[in-house]
Amino acid sequence: MSTFTAPKGTYDLLPPTSAIFLAVREAISAPARRAGYGYIETPVFEDVKLFSRGVGESTDIVTKEMYNLTTRGGDELALRPEGTASVLRAALQANLHKQGNLPVKLWYSGNYYRYERMQKGRYRQFSQVGAEAIGAEDPALDAELIILADDAFRALGLSDYSLLLNSLGDKQCRPVYRAALVEFLAGLDLDEETRRRAAINPLRVLDDKREAVQAQLVDAPKLRDHLCEDCKAYDEKVRELLTLAGVPFTDDPKLVRGLDYYTRTTFEFVHHRLGAQSAIGGGGRYDGLSEMIGGPALPSVGWALGVDRTYLALEAEGVVLDLPASTAVYAVALSEEAKTVLFAKAVELRRLGVATDLAFGVKGIKNAMKSADRSGARFAVIAGDRDLAEGVVQLKDMESGEQTPVALEALVTTLKEKQL
Ligand code: AMP
Repeated sequence: MSTFTAPKGTYDLLPPTSAIFLAVREAISAPARRAGYGYIETPVFEDVKLFSRGVGESTDIVTKEMYNLTTRGGDELALRPEGTASVLRAALQANLHKQGNLPVKLWYSGNYYRYERMQKGRYRQFSQVGAEAIGAEDPALDAELIILADDAFRALGLSDYSLLLNSLGDKQCRPVYRAALVEFLAGLDLDEETRRRAAINPLRVLDDKREAVQAQLVDAPKLRDHLCEDCKAYDEKVRELLTLAGVPFTDDPKLVRGLDYYTRTTFEFVHHRLGAQSAIGGGGRYDGLSEMIGGPALPSVGWALGVDRTYLALEAEGVVLDLPASTAVYAVALSEEAKTVLFAKAVELRRLGVATDLAFGVKGIKNAMKSADRSGARFAVIAGDRDLAEGVVQLKDMESGEQTPVALEALVTTLKEKQL
């Protein structure tokens, strides 16, 4: 053990688990990639104001959880706590929205940073796959994204989760609702901090996880009852399209989520076997965000799915992914000369796309065969001086244990034919 350990709230991804993470990232981004979303990468840090303005001054993310840093040059930066503000910033900076093809559809994958209280499923560095569709107001786009996320989870084999859905209204109807809510909240017995939060963004009080607060909110006015005609029609269309696609959803009038920029459609996927940290993904429409960060009006919608939690959900449901073996062939040389020959064969096999490994260092045959076993290889190729003198190697089927001599010249084609 070294003197150092990974910082609190972070963890190392190690084989074999790391292979599952790669497969999860691949699987949950695949539906978006098939739907016209192009890959985008943005810096891990940004101007801190992008997040304070974009994500919202009243959010926990900005007030308590950001990793702020001042550079030697005096710039105030922050490690990104989420992806949407950066992606929109990048799209605006590159004028992607002016290239005549709206919506601009983008997907991304990366690590995000929040100084959170560590618990299972909640980390200070976590991994998300996200998708954003920028510059179109169309209920079909909201439905498309929700369906893509649902397809992603289902394709992985998850089933014990629900989709929660709500509409947060728009600049027409939300202020009316907000006023009704403020009046209602004024009559409640709330602590100082909650009052302060209510003064900046009263909707966020609905999101309070404490039972004592929730108990007082039972009769709170519901946004659904205050939606304007446009928002209502929009919401109904999203629902209709989800139903047509066979994606079940549950109404959750209290779903406001932790970020200030959402308008209209908001949603969250919650897994039923993850305990307190149950959200495996979420998102919504953010029609005002572009203007909040200095851009033109660009109605947009997007989501982020949690890779760490999707992994935990797979584990909780006992889903085992069908991953290709990292090693298909394992070569064991019994002499220096055989090592040179098998090394060359390993290089050749790898170049032909067959995943091949070989024993390194001085090892007895017993240890080398143990390594072959541990590697999960389908075949072991074993050769000593006597085999080479006869122009053969021994090919051992690691499943049946059967061992047969194969002409050295024919080894590569024989293995290639097995389509490993
Ligand atoms: P959010 O940006 O908060 O909507 O998060 C989107 C998704 O990222 C959530 O549904 C979680 O799956 C995941 N996520 C958010 N915060 C964390 C965290 N601290 N640790 C692990 N996963 C997280």
